[in-house]
Amino acid sequence: MSVFEADGFDDHEQVVFASDAATGLKAIIAIHDTRRGPALGGCRYWRYPDERAALTDVLRLSRGMTFKAAMADLPLGGGKTVVLADPARAKTPELMQALGRAVDRLGGRYIVAEDVGTSPADMAEVRKATRHVSGLDSGGGDPSPATAYGVWRGIHAAVNHRLRRNRLEGLRVAVQGVGHVGYHLCRHLHEEGARLFVTDIRADGVERAAREFGATPVALDDIYDVEADVFAPCALGAVINDRTVERLKVAVVAGSANNQLAQDRHGDRLAERGILYAPDYVINAGGLINVQHERMEGGYDRAAAYAHIGRIERTLVELFGRAERDGVPPHIAVDRMAGDRLRAGA
Ligand code: NAD
Repeated sequence: MSVFEADGFDDHEQVVFASDAATGLKAIIAIHDTRRGPALGGCRYWRYPDERAALTDVLRLSRGMTFKAAMADLPLGGGKTVVLADPARAKTPELMQALGRAVDRLGGRYIVAEDVGTSPADMAEVRKATRHVSGLDSGGGDPSPATAYGVWRGIHAAVNHRLRRNRLEGLRVAVQGVGHVGYHLCRHLHEEGARLFVTDIRADGVERAAREFGATPVALDDIYDVEADVFAPCALGAVINDRTVERLKVAVVAGSANNQLAQDRHGDRLAERGILYAPDYVINAGGLINVQHERMEGGYDRAAAYAHIGRIERTLVELFGRAERDGVPPHIAVDRMAGDRLRAGA
């Protein structure tokens, strides 16, 4: 298996294969780029079909973190870890400690955090072997309110650009998923006078949004057909796909979910249909920005953190302008803009 020719390889600075016989640890740590600062990225614990799939995943995800940090104006680079879960062995505290030792050997060039399949408790085990870890229970806790705040500011940027409206009062927003982020997003939107349409596989979430924010409940699959101004995906990835992209009756797609476009061509299609897409990794960076502020030496300053998150609005304004000037959709312009920021080392 070649690393340099693997799918997802993009001149990564360092790719480390870590193993530990005693605990059964098999992990890949990818450091994509540290020009802006140490590479930060979560640790995914996952049953991959084979090593190649794990390698591709960690290469792509670490590159994504570089771009996300650059667009969020953070002094961080991009990295990621995947642990290849062994179906025959359980995830143990000792295995997480072994991972901590592997992270520690990188001397601070990479900072690990939780991700799919790992928890704050796992990070506490990692912490026993290295201080290069974030996302502990003792930290600021749930990043979702910060993420929701950033999405709300990002919706402002998109609505202003596409609909020339400064205020969200009377705006119709269809929210898919009223979990951690979706709920707080609904609160911001409701406080500003927006009209909400919500769906979720959990009836209690929908009922709460209806009760607290006067939201109109919508059946799961009908959310794509709601006539609204904004569609805010806050549940799953790949929801803009062949089955849904022609159905949307909105002017803007802007939500927190990761990897909203099933493929790039779905972003092209949104643009052809006149629907403005706010790239997910820009608009959903509030949680990451908050984590970085929690790590600051002088202690966490909420006002400073939220002011930084609020800059997502300005970044999106800049991005939409660039997309228009370059004559490309925002999902293409964003990679160019992140690339420029990296080269500038800014
Ligand atoms: P969550 O699990 O709390 O909320 C997701 C909600 O979506 C749940 O209420 C779930 O019941 C619902 N859901 C699941 N499948 C659905 C479906 N088919 N249709 C409608 N609803 C469905 O997760 P979250 O923390 O709110 O994150 C939401 C999204 O935002 C995820 O894609 C996540 O990766 C992304 N994100 C979250 C953060 C954060 O700070 N939490 C940061 C960046 C990105």
